Amino acid sequence: MTPTRALASTRLTPKPKPKPKKRKRAKPNPSIAWARRLARYRPDLLDDTLNSLSELYGPQVWQRRLDPTSELILTILTQSTADVNAEQGFVALRAAYPSGKESEHHEPGVGWGGDGLPDGAPPDWLAVEMAPTEELMAVIKPAGLQTQKAPRIQATLRKIREERGNHSLEFLGEMPPLEARDWLTSIPGIGKKTASVLLLFCFDQPLMPVDRHVERVAKRIGLLPAKAPADLAHDHFLAMLASSPERSYETHVLLIHHGRAICQARKPKCEICPLLPHCPAGQKFMKAS
Ligand code: SF4
Repeated sequence: MTPTRALASTRLTPKPKPKPKKRKRAKPNPSIAWARRLARYRPDLLDDTLNSLSELYGPQVWQRRLDPTSELILTILTQSTADVNAEQGFVALRAAYPSGKESEHHEPGVGWGGDGLPDGAPPDWLAVEMAPTEELMAVIKPAGLQTQKAPRIQATLRKIREERGNHSLEFLGEMPPLEARDWLTSIPGIGKKTASVLLLFCFDQPLMPVDRHVERVAKRIGLLPAKAPADLAHDHFLAMLASSPERSYETHVLLIHHGRAICQARKPKCEICPLLPHCPAGQKFMKAS
């Protein structure tokens, strides 16, 4: 083949066109998908539930219970223990590490399982952080699991001070809720539940802590999918409450109170529960009894 013909044949051979790249479809957000599904198939479930529970337990009005650092440490003390024991641990902290600050009044709040903290000033957090860990363990012993909780409390206080220069968490009230939650959950050992408790109770930010009572009641009624992991359940609630975020506080308090008073884990009192007409699990329990 002459060079001219070789060139011509090269020109005639069409280059294979690159295949168009398949666009990856973004995965749908599972929480938004769940909220849409609920809105479609059981549109009034959340409103009906809250209205019934408000009639039963009364309307819930937000009020601050504690300063945010105290709320965070108290929440760590409540982990895997009864709220009354956590309160005793907190009172012991105040006594062992007094700050000399002015005493504060504390409302126990509906849904809180303890007796309510007596009035008092927050502990001296620097003294708590710097205390010998074994000493702190002995102080918080009434709250239980002191070998885990004392180092966790100290690590948490250290992280806050290193990041912020002091132990105050009041700045979180100025941040958008999800950013504030991310800031808190970046501290090792602080999950979405603890972060949401602090932000909801201290600043009335529209976040929804899902503890075992909230999770149980919500799954039985059908507000949450039966198999939703607790971590995802927090975001399912945010999606469900997207059009009425101001109802986050009453949603949390009413569900937790109902879980303690009537929809208990072992023997739910379905026969006196106003949610029975909307509750598939309750109807099953009633048939079986
Ligand atoms: S009907 Fe029974 S299972 Fe359902 S929410 Fe009420 S107490 Fe719980």
